[in-house]
Amino acid sequence: MRLAGGRIIDPAHGIDGQVRDLYVRDGRIVEAPPDGPDAQTIDVTGRIVMAGAIDLHTHIGGGKVNLARMLLPEDHRASGYERTALTRSSCGHATPGTLAAGYRYAEMGYTACFEPAMLPINARQTHLELADTPIVDKGCYALLGNDDFFLRMLATGEPQARINDYAAWILDCTQAIAIKVVNPGGISAFKFNQRRLDIDEAHVHYRVTPRQVLRTLARAVHELGVPHPLHVHGCNLGVPGNVDTTLATIDAAEGLPIHLTHVQFHSYGTEGDRKFSSAAARIAEAINAHANVSADVGQIMFGQTVTASGDSMMQYHNAELGSPRKSVIMDIECDAGCGVVPFRYRDQSFVNALQWAIGLEIFLSVRDPWRIFLTTDHPNGAPFTSYPHLIRLLTDRAFRSDMFQKIDPDARAASTLGSLTREYSLYEIAIMTRAGPARTLGLSDRGHLGAGAAADITVYRDEADRERMFAAPQYVFKDGELVVRDGRLVAVPAGGRVHAVKPQYDRSIETAVADYFERYQTTSASAFRISADELCECGSGLLVHECRGKPR
Ligand SMILES: [Zn+2]
Repeated sequence: MRLAGGRIIDPAHGIDGQVRDLYVRDGRIVEAPPDGPDAQTIDVTGRIVMAGAIDLHTHIGGGKVNLARMLLPEDHRASGYERTALTRSSCGHATPGTLAAGYRYAEMGYTACFEPAMLPINARQTHLELADTPIVDKGCYALLGNDDFFLRMLATGEPQARINDYAAWILDCTQAIAIKVVNPGGISAFKFNQRRLDIDEAHVHYRVTPRQVLRTLARAVHELGVPHPLHVHGCNLGVPGNVDTTLATIDAAEGLPIHLTHVQFHSYGTEGDRKFSSAAARIAEAINAHANVSADVGQIMFGQTVTASGDSMMQYHNAELGSPRKSVIMDIECDAGCGVVPFRYRDQSFVNALQWAIGLEIFLSVRDPWRIFLTTDHPNGAPFTSYPHLIRLLTDRAFRSDMFQKIDPDARAASTLGSLTREYSLYEIAIMTRAGPARTLGLSDRGHLGAGAAADITVYRDEADRERMFAAPQYVFKDGELVVRDGRLVAVPAGGRVHAVKPQYDRSIETAVADYFERYQTTSASAFRISADELCECGSGLLVHECRGKPR
């Protein structure tokens, strides 16, 4: 197949709008064939051609997502997908069912989604849901840092190499691509009746601090050669004044790579009459100054959504703010916990309006688009379906200014957003939504349009209204197959691949883990392990990416 005459935006190769043809054979992008007739030519003259988009942080499967679905029948009643000749029925806006999630992502030009909070004990459930999510590729980040086995190792001073083996074993067993830590040590501390845990406070039982947890896990991920740095949801989520904790978190990494997720929720000061202020400038300055740090924003948008987090400690505090007022706060075996609280962000609320502005301030103040990623922390800040609107806010200053005039006046007065003139280019959007996520996750054959890459391709009309443009691409190809035309599905291939990494480790860790599982867990270590065959049986192929400096 030949895609003829499009304007290619492919930041991985430094290509910005060059007109050239793209060739696809057997699901891969290939060099131009020497001669002979093309099997099929699609004219995309004047269109913008990018790799399929990659969402590196979206909660679309696993325990707490399913709890959120059950907690919000009204969300599902209000938003249905009818069965057609092509699609099965599904529903949900803030917490779409598996089918609706796959359909909607594909319709927006996304071809890969990463579930960032897979509890190892829930890994099987997560993979089953993701296998049921059609069209898109996926991957999971395994949660560590609040599990009893890890905290025991840390408390008893086990060597770093042993902890590395455990982290690698978890990645291997759960078919994950990265390690995430949520409220380091805090979810566990909650079970011991601590209600706060700042970065240098000690856990009452294990006598370790979040700083130790962060440093040890960041080192483990780095020494194992896992491409994506430790994915960090820090302490004090959503607490006014948490900017100091976030800056201390960067400090705790001691120069090792870390990724700060939904950093908007961690960028709050205590200035002003209401003791809540934007610290976006300080956070952006710190990210700009530390090349080892990347972040995704977790932008909020106004309207109804649900917050679903592994951070049971902070969600316990948020439960009284729930709208509608209901919640689930849960401890999960010896692993961690979760909290689900429905939420309605209002543009006339001072706090919500300022949160919205803080996210945009961060986007516009971090200079390097390779180290900042476009997320709403779906569904926590807003459903992923708001991405086209967010892209317009970033690329269109006049539109942003109009929206800024509509928010709570006190929040407007407290924000510098009106003075930020930057407009993201399409090239920078392509970095944030394709090339950047692929690079940080180590997906060598995704997120770009070079020969050998998977033919995950999105073709847009170059419309002045970027929201319209990104909401309904003209064509979306998944592995070379046309799946969307004019923003509508035309084919629904089964779930894509599961992306994973397999760092090498000393298998003797399995003896210790097996003994532990036998004594304390409800499953055995052998049943805990998910094999590649099992993934295939439930409908997903496994795609293993290389770790840095190590043979696979
Ligand atoms: Zn998240």
